[in-house]
Amino acid sequence: MATAGLVNPFMPNQLDGKPFDSGIFQEWCDRMGEMGGLAKDGRTFCQETAKLAAEKLCLDAGVKLLYHVQLDRPLMDGRRIDCVTMLGKSGLTGHRARAYVDATGDADLAARAGCTFELGRAEDGLTQPMTTCFDLAGVDIERMPDRETINRLYDRAREEGRLKCPRHNVLLFRSVEDDRIHFNTTRIIGHDATDTLSLSEAEIEGRRQVLDYVEFLRRDVAGFESARLHAVAVTIGVRESRRVRGHAYLTRADFENATKFPDGICRVNYEIDIHSPTGGGSEHAQLPPGEWYEIPYGCLVPLDCDNLLVAGRPISVDHAVHSSMRVMPPACTVGQACGTAAAMALRQKCTPAEVEGREVRRSLIEQGVWLVETHEGIEAS
Ligand SMILES: Cc1cc2nc3c(=O)[nH]c(=O)nc-3n(C[C@H](O)[C@H](O)[C@H](O)COP(=O)(O)OP(=O)(O)OC[C@H]3O[C@@H](n4cnc5c(N)ncnc54)[C@H](O)[C@@H]3O)c2cc1C
Repeated sequence: MATAGLVNPFMPNQLDGKPFDSGIFQEWCDRMGEMGGLAKDGRTFCQETAKLAAEKLCLDAGVKLLYHVQLDRPLMDGRRIDCVTMLGKSGLTGHRARAYVDATGDADLAARAGCTFELGRAEDGLTQPMTTCFDLAGVDIERMPDRETINRLYDRAREEGRLKCPRHNVLLFRSVEDDRIHFNTTRIIGHDATDTLSLSEAEIEGRRQVLDYVEFLRRDVAGFESARLHAVAVTIGVRESRRVRGHAYLTRADFENATKFPDGICRVNYEIDIHSPTGGGSEHAQLPPGEWYEIPYGCLVPLDCDNLLVAGRPISVDHAVHSSMRVMPPACTVGQACGTAAAMALRQKCTPAEVEGREVRRSLIEQGVWLVETHEGIEAS
């Protein structure tokens, strides 16, 4: 999402200025900084640099990358994935591993391996809306009105039928360049990211809304008269789809109680942030100041498959917790925990479910992830 989805900036997941995601996520940011692609705030970045920095990190670590491939399906041996087939320029190819990490965002591998999952919110299965992000360049930022004025103009354009978008206001951010504004503001509701036709229709609707926005901004908003469409995300942004049921499951109550776990592998204090699945508004809920909750290792380990781990946003949490942990910094730390656990499973000749979650936590601490301070009754290292 940070590259092809044009999603920017990294949402804050930190305490008193100290980031929780101080492992590989931080290494990635540092690389971007060295390449001149990270703003002073440490959160706004250039997506082109993000690509180059991510690839360099992988290559330097000896990762063999395969581009232009899509998962076809796993071939199962009981509760184990024996091998996966991928579709790419060479046609179908098979890839065998002892442990697999599903980092597809939508849990495509887990779903095709027969894992139980939830989709959307409990009451009706609806997910958070999708958004096609875009950037405008050539903006005279000095002349831009404040957000309230932009929102008033936006309401008027919607009332006059010139802009069709269910979102209640305009969500925009400064970018790494002085004359560029980033928009995370189109809103596509009622679509399912795991359905090819529905996803295609959402892409088309997202681009239609981008055109409406560009016309509105150029016509109505000071500073945008000569703005150019700098980039439209290559892929629509999907906030939410499947969440795979695992050996642990976090709920809104865990968020509210700031629950910690002996096998917590990631700390999060980013808010509950649910863009309405049906319309305009958003729901927000914050933790008390100075607090965070932890994601236990069991949320990454599917109940129904023995040699699979789930990384990023589709882990075993409810709709509310998902809306908090899905932002990019903790999503990266969850991925780091999966890679760590997969390596431990190989070394210990066991399944990811048999790996001791406290050991994963300990290894992450050694790798620099901020999980060290103790809590009542909880072992840190
Ligand atoms: C519109 C939008 C705005 C957001 N705003 C912010 C924000 O401002 N700040 C923030 O921190 N977070 C934001 N988020 C949340 C964040 O971007 C995502 O939740 C996060 O990127 C999820 O990480 P992930 O690794 O799980 O999935 P993704 O980042 O989606 O990565 C999944 C990867 O898997 C690949 N893939 C998918 N399916 C297959 C397949 N079948 N075969 C092969 N490869 C596949 C994809 O190409 C992609 O490279 C936003 C999300 C959206 C959609």
